[in-house]
Amino acid sequence: MNRRQFLKSGLFAAIGTLALSVYNKVHADIKNSTEKESSATASSGTITCTYCQQCEGCPLGIDIPKNFNIYNQFKADNKKENFISAYESIKEENRADKCVSCGICKSKCPQKLDIPILLKDVAELYKKLS
Ligand code: SF4
Ligand code: SF4
Repeated sequence: MNRRQFLKSGLFAAIGTLALSVYNKVHADIKNSTEKESSATASSGTITCTYCQQCEGCPLGIDIPKNFNIYNQFKADNKKENFISAYESIKEENRADKCVSCGICKSKCPQKLDIPILLKDVAELYKKLS
């Protein structure tokens, strides 16, 4: 094998290795995001929160299970006025829109819910309906 052929074959092997590692990374990312998504919401669109309260201790005082509970209630009955009044019955400082996405609560959730993202959904629903 001459020098040119050697370089060519070396380059070929390097490209192959790089392509394989990119493929593995993309595959792992897709798998992770699919798993995350499926643990976040049920097919009904409700949040798969069990209201276990293990996420309590938010430094800002967000009442996570309460916010998820009223969201799920709306997904079940589609009663706009009930959702609005339930959201407004939560003290302002405990509402979903006050979440700053620090992520502290995420590691505590046994359901592996992406709590900050889901709280955004709750806050956006209120904005949309009110
Ligand atoms: S991500 Fe939001 S709800 Fe969770 S601890 Fe931080 S501020 Fe509180
Ligand atoms: S820890 Fe998770 S499942 Fe339990 S109340 Fe909090 S968000 Fe819901």
